[in-house]
Amino acid sequence: KAKENTGSHIEFFSQNLNEKINSQFVLENNLWFALDNDEFYLEYQPIIDIESTKIVSAETLTRWQSKKLGLIPPYKFIPIAEENNLIIPIGKWVLKEACRQNKEWQDMGIAPITIAVNVSLKQLEQDDFVDTVNEILEETGLDPKYLEIELTESIPVENISHIINVLSSLSGLGIKLSIDDFGTGYSSLGQLKKLSIDKLKIDKSFVNDINVDTDNTQIVSTIIAMANILKLQVVAEGIETNNQLSFLKENHCDMGQGFLFSRPLGKDSFIEFLKNNSK
Ligand code: C2E
Ligand code: MG
Ligand code: MG
Ligand code: MG
Repeated sequence: KAKENTGSHIEFFSQNLNEKINSQFVLENNLWFALDNDEFYLEYQPIIDIESTKIVSAETLTRWQSKKLGLIPPYKFIPIAEENNLIIPIGKWVLKEACRQNKEWQDMGIAPITIAVNVSLKQLEQDDFVDTVNEILEETGLDPKYLEIELTESIPVENISHIINVLSSLSGLGIKLSIDDFGTGYSSLGQLKKLSIDKLKIDKSFVNDINVDTDNTQIVSTIIAMANILKLQVVAEGIETNNQLSFLKENHCDMGQGFLFSRPLGKDSFIEFLKNNSK
């Protein structure tokens, strides 16, 4: 009996693993053609100035609407794209589309906002990344001060000097730089100062725990205080409740983003949000 049970267990797990490998394989195969087939589109999530409640920027979030597989969330396709370097052409398309779109909004006469774009380390490591960004800005005509690049915190030490140079060039162009998901990685204060960073985005796992978990609540207020000392702006991600918002306001957090204000929106809904917010 015992033997039989073990046997079925092994089968159960290996079948799951097989399915997992299979679906990764199918995803990757389709991902190769997604760009050429125009299967990506962008959503925009408003970022609000907590004091004035005005929208100051929007984060670009990439969506893959696969004709074969349906809508695939970024947590499923971004890691695959990073593994096989498809993130380089995809990321370039995202940057260009975000800049083009922001310039179009400005040309419509709406109060200018900054567009924030998530950039993978793989992109940053390309020798021509700064040139690529520069070309995109020239082609789209967007003023660099309205572009922000979001980087996740985990910057490998082996590459640090190259990254420092790239970030300082980008900053020199007038582009804003922020550290995404702050608190989940391992960057040191000393590193932050060398990285020409303008902004920290507090990871939503901490924001979610405001007034729920004492440690995480204190982590939020400590990150805000630290950002103030370092003269960095600070954004809280994943704000869902008024309770969280009040805490952030009392602790002088500059900006906020989350379902409480708005979910990520398609471009038509976003423009409505912009128009209503600037009234
Ligand atoms: P992120 O950059 O930290 O983006 C914020 C994520 O939190 C988004 O998930 C957003 O929809 C979600 N979010 C915003 N407000 C709330 C809230 O109040 N509650 C909750 N529960 N979630 C909230 P999304 O769109 O699924 O994106 C996930 C991640 O995928 C992003 O995390 C980013 O790391 C990555 N990603 C998305 N687009 C791109 C891209 O174009 N390039 C790269 N390299 N990564 C991307
Ligand atoms: Mg982000
Ligand atoms: Mg984040
Ligand atoms: Mg994230």
